[in-house]
Amino acid sequence: MKFADRIDHLPPYLFVEISRKIAQRRAEGADVVTFAIGDPDIPTPSHILNRLQEASQDPPNHRYPESEGLPELRRAIAQWYEGRFGVALDPDKEVLPLIGAKEGIGHAALCFIDPGDVALVPDPGYPVYSVGTLFAGGKCHWMPLLEENQWLPDLSAIPPEVAGKAKALWINYPNNPTGAIAEESFFEEVVAFAQRYDIPVLHDAPYTEVAYDGYGPVSFLQVPGAKEVGMEFHSLSKSYNMTGWRIGMAVGNAEMINALMRVKSNLDSGIPQAIQYAAIEALLGPQDCIQEHNRIYQRRRDKVVATLRQIGLKVAVPRASLYVWAKLPPGWKSGAFSALLIEEKDIVVTPGAGYGRYGEGYIRLSLTIADDQLEKGLERLASWRIPDPLSS
Ligand SMILES: *Cc1c(COP(=O)(O)O)cnc(C)c1O
Repeated sequence: MKFADRIDHLPPYLFVEISRKIAQRRAEGADVVTFAIGDPDIPTPSHILNRLQEASQDPPNHRYPESEGLPELRRAIAQWYEGRFGVALDPDKEVLPLIGAKEGIGHAALCFIDPGDVALVPDPGYPVYSVGTLFAGGKCHWMPLLEENQWLPDLSAIPPEVAGKAKALWINYPNNPTGAIAEESFFEEVVAFAQRYDIPVLHDAPYTEVAYDGYGPVSFLQVPGAKEVGMEFHSLSKSYNMTGWRIGMAVGNAEMINALMRVKSNLDSGIPQAIQYAAIEALLGPQDCIQEHNRIYQRRRDKVVATLRQIGLKVAVPRASLYVWAKLPPGWKSGAFSALLIEEKDIVVTPGAGYGRYGEGYIRLSLTIADDQLEKGLERLASWRIPDPLSS
């Protein structure tokens, strides 16, 4: 069978080799511990589930939802943004509920990228920014995220002729996979850059609520002028342990929101309404679950960082996100290192190269692992001596 080029050109599935190894070890009866998945292990809080169950019994919620979401949900999102970030949003023009942020991120490329167009995309980065660009027929200009720049892209390193024709700028803070954060000053630079070259900014921000040591991440929209140039993707997935329910939102520039709404209304039929009511409960109900979850993740973070340092890896303590990003000793490739860790210790981590070439030399460990598994994994890790890379 002949497939479209976009299927043939899809980047190879990053973790094929790792997945094969896990399957092989499990088939051999091994007790594999995985730090690879960024999916909260803690259940959705019960007040949110109760609202979902109640709403599921109500027949109007059994019918097609509207693409633009329930007006009550759009108002709840606006109210939450105002309360959390002091950002005022028009619920009818500047808010769009999504079937998870991933869905909106993938479809957003169709709003800005024509065949042959260029998008500015971070490397390492969440893969959907580049795949969405490819699906729209565009090309990526990679912005390296480097440790020496605190994992922020160096906008001044983008050649003016590339910036001049770029049709989208993707950024993501708190960052997956590096765990880095951005201050308002960086977002101010982004706004100035976007204004100078007339580039729409797409900020992916699903981790603003997952933060530690009292730190409170900022929204891109808090910066003056941001709403004139950009929109922000957010999600209930990581904030409220709702990855399985699929609900997120895009907020910001009214024209950009409208374009995304028009694309979506031709492709999907909205979010199941019972889930929209659950989302309203999540956003407007009690918020203490967020601090409770962050306390759990922070405790896990400290243990993971301590163990990684103990075996000789260089690790910065992340102030936000669900990830610990660790630098490998010189000479190690992330794929070989991860494969060896499965073979020798039955521990799964994510190779940094899976997020782009600038992720090479690093591994990512997720904090969404149940405490007993975490303890078991760290105990095994602590007893490991990293071999010489040449001998592997
Ligand atoms: C988890 C994640 C998403 C997807 O969130 P959903 O709302 O579950 O689709 C988007 N971007 C990044 C960087 C993520 O880590």
